[in-house]
Amino acid sequence: MADQLALDEVVTFTSDLIRIDTTNRGGGDCQERPAAEYAAARLAEAGLEPVMLERTLGRTNVVARLEGTDPSADALLLHGHLDVVPAEPADWSVHPFSGEVRDGVVWGRGAVDMKNMDAMILSVVRSWAREGVRPRRDIVIAFTADEEASAADGAGFLADRHPHLFEGCTEGVSESGAYTFHDGQGRQFYPIGAGERGTGWMRLTARGRAGHGSKVNRENAVTRLAAAVTRIGEHEWPLRLTPTVRAALTEIAAVYGIETDLSDVDALLDKLGGAAKLVEATVRNSSNPTMLDAGYKVNVIPGEAVAHVDGRFLPDTEDEFRATMDRLTGPDVDWEFAHREIALQAPVDSPTFAAMREAVQAFAPEAYTVPYCMSGGTDAKQFARLGITGYGFAPLKLPEGFDYQALFHGVDERVPVEALQFGVQVLDRFLRSA
Ligand SMILES: [Zn+2]
Repeated sequence: MADQLALDEVVTFTSDLIRIDTTNRGGGDCQERPAAEYAAARLAEAGLEPVMLERTLGRTNVVARLEGTDPSADALLLHGHLDVVPAEPADWSVHPFSGEVRDGVVWGRGAVDMKNMDAMILSVVRSWAREGVRPRRDIVIAFTADEEASAADGAGFLADRHPHLFEGCTEGVSESGAYTFHDGQGRQFYPIGAGERGTGWMRLTARGRAGHGSKVNRENAVTRLAAAVTRIGEHEWPLRLTPTVRAALTEIAAVYGIETDLSDVDALLDKLGGAAKLVEATVRNSSNPTMLDAGYKVNVIPGEAVAHVDGRFLPDTEDEFRATMDRLTGPDVDWEFAHREIALQAPVDSPTFAAMREAVQAFAPEAYTVPYCMSGGTDAKQFARLGITGYGFAPLKLPEGFDYQALFHGVDERVPVEALQFGVQVLDRFLRSA
């Protein structure tokens, strides 16, 4: 068990890290360095030797290795990003960078994504230093820059340029898993991340014949683009069950005593009620048009029109995704990935997955742990290039009515103190047994 000081420190660290504004607008102006220095100092106080690494000035990453007792064991990567998405103070009840602790809740941008987990990692490691605990496997700790944009200054840079720091790491653990999901009927789930859909952010370009808006024009770029965008937005992607999603459906159905009929997944999802949310976004690929840009005057037909589409594809479906986009865009519209990241699939029958389940179960015996696939992506995609299998495990015990998914990048992001302390206990237990 983590000691009382660890339970206090996790609150202080979360609050302190929130107060360090590391807003990442994607334009390169984010400065993670003060947060990196803060994290590195807390690690150094625990006897670790963190190194700070930058590709771009001020975009700082921190990496440290905690030596395990079994040098023949594979190492485990524990990572958290230091940047946060923007927050508009006028929209918030509490200033988003105040880190205020009010009525047992820590408020601010990063409270759940993911300065909470950064603080939990620091607290656990420091409590181990006090108690003289050493893990079995080496644990590599990485605090990264730039996760909320391209990761080019963060995990991508570390994986490309400093792979030696991650030598021996076979598995990684980071955000977006092991939080309490209430089904609305009194049951609690802890979904543990074992896969991510791939990212396919696309740019569509329609070309046509420019001309006067009053003339006949069968090659109107705006019309062509609009037609393609409509086809893409309305496309019904076919079901594609990956091993993780299949396991999730089966386990969730079993909780309700429902027979798992995977031949009619949509009917099965209907029967699962609120818990369907855990899987519905990951039973198929998706393509959501998000940006349109064309023309400059109402009576001028432009020669080109551009749209952006947020595409996501499941593991092993990228070829199919590309072929579908070729077909949906048609001959008059070109498309390309403006940003592409791979999909991930992690085994749910591994000893590490079992250890994560056990750690949650020990502190939440009334709840059900289930695997799930993330609909979006994390830094785990970057570390996958080093052969590291990524899991989503940043434990939080959230009360009913506390919608984790809505707080992610949302207004009034906040986290209960109790949730953080539960996280420290669970993370501590998992890392001791991993
Ligand atoms: Zn995050």
